[in-house]
Amino acid sequence: MSQRILVLPGDGIGPDVVSVAVAVLERVADRHGLDLVLDQALVGGRAIDETGSPLPPETLEKARASRAVLLGAVGGPKWDDLPTLSRPERGLLGLRSGLELFANLRPATLFEPLAAASSLKPELVANLDILIVRELTGGIYFGEPRGIEVVNNERRGFNTYVYSEHEIDRIARVAFDLARKRGGRLCSVDKANVLEVTQLWREVVTQVGKDYPDVTLSHMYVDNAGMQLVRAPKQFDVVVTGNMFGDILSDVAAMLTGSLGMLPSASLAADGSGLYEPVHGSAPDIAGQDKANPLATILSVAMMCRYSLDAPAAADAIESAVNRVLDEGIRTQDIAPPHGDVRIVGTRAMGQAVLDALD
Ligand code: NAD
Repeated sequence: MSQRILVLPGDGIGPDVVSVAVAVLERVADRHGLDLVLDQALVGGRAIDETGSPLPPETLEKARASRAVLLGAVGGPKWDDLPTLSRPERGLLGLRSGLELFANLRPATLFEPLAAASSLKPELVANLDILIVRELTGGIYFGEPRGIEVVNNERRGFNTYVYSEHEIDRIARVAFDLARKRGGRLCSVDKANVLEVTQLWREVVTQVGKDYPDVTLSHMYVDNAGMQLVRAPKQFDVVVTGNMFGDILSDVAAMLTGSLGMLPSASLAADGSGLYEPVHGSAPDIAGQDKANPLATILSVAMMCRYSLDAPAAADAIESAVNRVLDEGIRTQDIAPPHGDVRIVGTRAMGQAVLDALD
């Protein structure tokens, strides 16, 4: 049966990197017998220009009817002065809530040829392969009540950190399932020594763990997790945590790899459908100049194959092809060392190199 994929190039370098990544998706579909039907729609700034909305109803409808969505990036200086509720980024938030994407997966994988780009010593990060699973639709970012009020003649800001058992249960199951398919280790990060909500988090995760006797579960306080991530990151396999801690830790883990242009991400719904996008933004400074690194988007396509299309062999093939290209010394400008024997190429040539390596 054919599977629908919605492509949302978006703004800035979005169209540059997405066109290259789509070529890779089509090539692996062909090689691995995936029957895909691709469609395109508007999101972000371009959608505002053409329809007045950052997420036109037609786009959300098409996304809901798709097994997976591939997004480039949204935003840019042209739309910076719009009020918060009508900015391009609202398109992204609307997709996350409209598709009920509650599980955000951010791998921090360091391809060995790039070990020197990390701010840590190469031996600490070479072949790093960790996966941060962040709860995306709950926690303190969405808890009510929230606001700023005046009390005793001064302003007071407040938010609510809240998780219900079912929210913790479902994100824990996603993380355990992933750990089972990877190294068999899951570390749950909380602040259970101070926050009751994360005491409940720890209890529920421990309870869910009884259904996964083959996965080794550990718990860590978030302050220690931050420290351990920069001290000895390879001790982690899969990390699961709430929305705010995940936001921070996934950025820390990302920087271990040294390059924004290499980082893919996935956000999944309960039925395994998902939104796949590079972590970087729309990079208006290099948009349309054939300079953007397309590898984060290509690696997002690999995640799509693995997590939504049930095609792990296709995912492995893409990741091996990227590794081979880097091994051959082919680099876009952002990942080129200041001195070194590498060949610097543009977006399209990097895409072509990955296609060649796939062959
Ligand atoms: P950015 O990630 O777009 O760029 C930061 C720096 O990294 C820039 O110098 C850029 O040239 C470089 N860079 C980013 N991706 C690259 C790539 N693939 N190849 C080579 N270099 C790359 O972040 P920013 O400058 O803070 O934001 C620019 C716009 O993007 C803003 O409008 C912001 O709101 C938006 N944004 C969107 C998303 C998203 O769509 N998910 C995420 C972050 C920022």
